[in-house]
Amino acid sequence: MREHIYELAIVGAGPAGIATAVESYLQGVRDIILLEKDENHNSTIRKYYKDNKRVDVAWKGQKVELDGNIYFIDGTKETTLDFFDELLKNHSVELRTHVEVTGIEKKDDYFEVHMAGKSIKAKYVVVTIGRMGKPNKPSYKIPPAIRKKVNYTTDDCGSGEKVLVVGGGDSAVEYAVDLSKNNEVAICYRRETFRRANPTNQRDIANAIAHKEVRPILGVNIDGLEATEDGKIRVLFNEIEPEIFDRVIYAIGGTTPSAFLSSSGIKEEDGKPVHNEYYETNVKGLFVAGDITQESGGSIALGLNHGYAIACHIKGCS
Ligand SMILES: Cc1cc2nc3c(=O)[nH]c(=O)nc-3n(C[C@H](O)[C@H](O)[C@H](O)COP(=O)(O)OP(=O)(O)OC[C@H]3O[C@@H](n4cnc5c(N)ncnc54)[C@H](O)[C@@H]3O)c2cc1C
Repeated sequence: MREHIYELAIVGAGPAGIATAVESYLQGVRDIILLEKDENHNSTIRKYYKDNKRVDVAWKGQKVELDGNIYFIDGTKETTLDFFDELLKNHSVELRTHVEVTGIEKKDDYFEVHMAGKSIKAKYVVVTIGRMGKPNKPSYKIPPAIRKKVNYTTDDCGSGEKVLVVGGGDSAVEYAVDLSKNNEVAICYRRETFRRANPTNQRDIANAIAHKEVRPILGVNIDGLEATEDGKIRVLFNEIEPEIFDRVIYAIGGTTPSAFLSSSGIKEEDGKPVHNEYYETNVKGLFVAGDITQESGGSIALGLNHGYAIACHIKGCS
């Protein structure tokens, strides 16, 4: 008996993956499977967004017009997760969690999607695995004695600590402002201003600095970290004297999953997978969407638009 061939398999259940599934459903595709390695959809939002975080549609100051049928508005981490829950519930999409896809193989008229010990077949495959599977890390070595206090999310932060947040984009600014409610916080950025952050975050960080809630360390690079005798972190700045912190949090974006792309035959150019205007890669029938298509991270709205463009292309409606 011939094994089932899904019409569409989507790898990664973040905003771009869910949008691709829902928009395809709305275009009439009925046989869709959404594969997620974590225990639930949207692991980037669950893991990297702090509780009650404000979610801006115009992330990083990029105003994006929504092209498709998904009406996404400003909200919070919690309302955004509820929104995606509802979308999945209302558009019969088969979401399979706890499955990490390891690669995609092109056969004659279908793809084989490989996971640990098993595989499924699909006519079209869309890869929407984002860039936060591997957050960017500094080039210098982190001494083992302080590794637990050097983080990439705010999950382990308590209160009453002296914390250094490293980075100057929206995530770094939001982390610094939020942590300053219960901690002594400094933010270190190699540039002199927070111009990369969106206007709301620029205003928030300016306020926090003006009220001495966050101490700016701007135009400064970090050369390395050392462990002090009492288990704290000595930060070795390039331009200024070293300083000791209880915790250091890097918020410097994520990386392109190059190994995954190349093992699936997807070519990369300038740190991004090669694709056409419909997000189809050099492998016909194999698409990419969401953050993975952007050199330095995208936004929820961009991912939603990618999903719509792919759905339209697959069903020939554009
Ligand atoms: C701290 C922070 C704050 C942000 N705030 C905002 C904001 O306010 N507004 C906004 O628009 N954007 C914001 N962003 C950006 C936004 O979160 C991303 O642009 C968006 O999540 C990208 O969606 P995506 O679907 O491309 O990837 P992701 O959301 O990263 O989803 C990828 C999914 O794929 C899964 N996956 C990964 N590898 C595999 C595999 N091999 N097999 C199966 N599944 C896999 C992951 O577990 C994950 O669930 C923020 C980002 C961060 C880090």
